[in-house]
Amino acid sequence: MKPSFETLDRNVIQKGLCTACGTCAGICPTGGIRLIYKEGEPIPVLMGECNSCGHCYHSCPGEDIPLPDMELHLFGKHRNVTEQNLGVYKYCVSAYARDAETRLAGASGGVATALINYALEVGIIDCAIVAGYQEQRPWLPEGKVVTTRSQVLEAAQSKYTVAPVNAVINEAVNKGYKKIGVVGVPCHIEAIRKMQLRGRPSKVAKSIRLTLGLFCASEFYFEGLRHLLGEMCGVDDLKHITKLQYRSAPWPGHFAIDLDNGERRVVDRHRYVYHFLLPLYKRDRCEMCVDWAAEVADIAIGDYWSPDMKPGEEQGHSSCIVRSEVGDMLMEMARNDGVLHVENLNANTVMAGFGYEAKKHAAAFRLAQRQSYGWPVPNFHIECDREPTKREFHIAPETKQR
Ligand SMILES: Cc1cc2nc3c(=O)[nH]c(=O)nc-3n(C[C@H](O)[C@H](O)[C@H](O)COP(=O)(O)OP(=O)(O)OC[C@H]3O[C@@H](n4cnc5c(N)ncnc54)[C@H](O)[C@@H]3O)c2cc1C
Ligand code: SF4
Ligand code: SF4
Repeated sequence: MKPSFETLDRNVIQKGLCTACGTCAGICPTGGIRLIYKEGEPIPVLMGECNSCGHCYHSCPGEDIPLPDMELHLFGKHRNVTEQNLGVYKYCVSAYARDAETRLAGASGGVATALINYALEVGIIDCAIVAGYQEQRPWLPEGKVVTTRSQVLEAAQSKYTVAPVNAVINEAVNKGYKKIGVVGVPCHIEAIRKMQLRGRPSKVAKSIRLTLGLFCASEFYFEGLRHLLGEMCGVDDLKHITKLQYRSAPWPGHFAIDLDNGERRVVDRHRYVYHFLLPLYKRDRCEMCVDWAAEVADIAIGDYWSPDMKPGEEQGHSSCIVRSEVGDMLMEMARNDGVLHVENLNANTVMAGFGYEAKKHAAAFRLAQRQSYGWPVPNFHIECDREPTKREFHIAPETKQR
């Protein structure tokens, strides 16, 4: 018998393994699965008919993530020893959008926004699925199907609470789009690769032509946002918020909200990320996720943190890991057509970021611990080498002298 929504509910949702990617709701052929919000978190619930097609369970990245099979299917090979921490890739670059408006709108270098707009312009895709905010509740992220430059720009920047973007996949397919681009965090992309690996639902699997994955250390509980707003911004009634940004310009981007009385309240990035959301409000499922650099995306994109960069004095760059043929073609075309400024980047510099440590060491250890207690854990089908990594540039001078 094929798995039904009941199987998904029992094995994934009730076990705390749901990443809230939205895929099950977004591909259910009867439209029976909906996301309802509890404590601000989207939870898949069966509100209509389940025909036991199994698509939701087989595409779900909550419990089973067969990374090696996906790699073989996508890149024709498994990762080699030097690719253990980043996944299979062709090359790494740092880049930024040459268009000033796009670079300023983006979280780091505006690369994801620039590449989506360029892919639409040259016809690689005919629509994109990105993360915007709900119209009535402009603090809650949701998936948007977009086709114009202004819509793509409007959705720029990172959303750090859950963005169930894959919930709009059927909307895009039903509108007749046949070349869909998806921007998402690693679990969004894993769901898409699971569908493509299985070839089902076939219309969806065939229609998705481009995936841009964001590096992801974690998403945060809505509860964290509620406390951030109340305790650091003095806002208890969210209805007064007209706009919310986690990475408002200038780079590296602060938390900013606009209120209906015209006021703007801002919290320093370092303070709200490293002293509030990260230590206190990481989603539990994210604590066990070992895919940091969107390991099965066509291009993975993250913040570029060079020790030479001066926050507040210059604009951002994005680290890009180009993985697939499609990703390579898009990056080369965007470079040659002057859409992106691109410089070569050493893979070790990409791994200097905090997220690598969070995922490949801390999350890998936590996952093994939970497994040893018999707690539910996701299976990525890979082993992470948890040995401390020698990173010379992080050793303080006085430590070196000892
Ligand atoms: C939850 C989260 C955690 C991250 N953690 C890290 C990290 O540890 N290390 C690191 O180097 N970088 C991390 N990033 C990536 C970084 O914040 C930037 O998104 C990335 O550098 C791309 O910047 P950009 O200026 O090129 O993209 P932009 O031009 O700003 O475009 C970003 C695109 O991503 C989409 N998007 C934004 N948030 C989400 C979301 N939650 N789900 C799906 N789509 C979304 C937007 O709609 C837009 O299309 C994280 C991003 C997110 C969302
Ligand atoms: S498909 Fe996504 S939203 Fe649905 S149960 Fe799985 S992880 Fe959760
Ligand atoms: S940490 Fe993993 S599970 Fe959590 S949002 Fe990021 S990719 Fe998804």
